Amino acid sequence: MIIHKPKIERIEDRIRISSFIEVESDNNLSKTLWFEVPLMYESWLSVNSNAFLIATISFAMCLRENINVEGTLSPRLVYNSNQYQSYLKYWLPHLYISRITCNSIKQEKIEPKATVLTFSGGVDSFYTLYKHLAENETIPEYRITHCLFTHGFDVNLRQEKDFTVIKNGYEKMLSNLNIPLISIASNFREFNDRKVPWHEVTFGPAVISTALILDKNISKFLVASHSIPISPCGSHPLTDHLLSTENLEVIHHGMTSSRLYKTKILSNWPVTYDYLRVCWEKTNGLLNCCECEKCLRTMIPLELTGTLSKYSTFPKLLKIENIKNWNYQYLLYASDILNEADKIGRSDISNAVKEAIKTHSSLKLCEL
Ligand SMILES: [Zn+2]
Repeated sequence: MIIHKPKIERIEDRIRISSFIEVESDNNLSKTLWFEVPLMYESWLSVNSNAFLIATISFAMCLRENINVEGTLSPRLVYNSNQYQSYLKYWLPHLYISRITCNSIKQEKIEPKATVLTFSGGVDSFYTLYKHLAENETIPEYRITHCLFTHGFDVNLRQEKDFTVIKNGYEKMLSNLNIPLISIASNFREFNDRKVPWHEVTFGPAVISTALILDKNISKFLVASHSIPISPCGSHPLTDHLLSTENLEVIHHGMTSSRLYKTKILSNWPVTYDYLRVCWEKTNGLLNCCECEKCLRTMIPLELTGTLSKYSTFPKLLKIENIKNWNYQYLLYASDILNEADKIGRSDISNAVKEAIKTHSSLKLCEL
């Protein structure tokens, strides 16, 4: 696979940085990979190929191709990319470890300033945001200065109207916290989804590549982690930091806090009441469908804290019948909620969760 030299061009009020990715074993898979950022962030734009390497590395591993980069790479990233590939191969043995060559290996001496969080408006990213506000984070360099939201990840590039509604909402909410929102667009998924699974492999490199595109001014990049259990996943505490460079530190944050704990913290933070968006099943602006697994995983703990009715983004009532049929992702999420419901005497919810566990536990035991 050849990662061609990055090209930068202006498209209306945005700047596009792109690279033609040439697939040597099957030319039909060759495609230009691009990222677009607002014009005001032009001075943050990278001059190296680090982002394009991590955005395509698993694609090359799937195709069993080596990678030749017609550009410059960070020494730290090249060194760690072997370790990164080893983890992927350990989890998915059919993958190939790609040999990486490039025109030059060096790191430009710069002093980036911003601490940026990738933000999607869910429980994990709101929790990481909350923990890195000035009142909660004592070390100034680790306080979040900007959030970054990407069109083309959980909101499809074709859903322009939805993206604009969500982006405008987050911009308004974050401006009250004095945090600007950087809105990026990318065809990363259109490129990678053809061969590599999003959840299992690419979503960590996806969000980190958007930071590396702006690496002239990002010194710390926070990736909000989902809660334990630790299982092979595209964004993982073992692998995300391996995609750091000398100037940009990737921090995987929040893994050891349970989802129940995070939800309880958010329920006491009114900023979340009109903006918490967890549903990826049926996107409708900021509104959640209130019926899918992920919605229930969030609505039940909010109900237990007595705050669900305050959330305008969950417009439907929580039905006991839906809890009984809840096909929870991890048994740990269900057992945490069950314990909490028992503790506060909500037998209606604890009985319904017990029923869900009875129905689904045999399928979930392998996660313990
Ligand atoms: Zn939903």
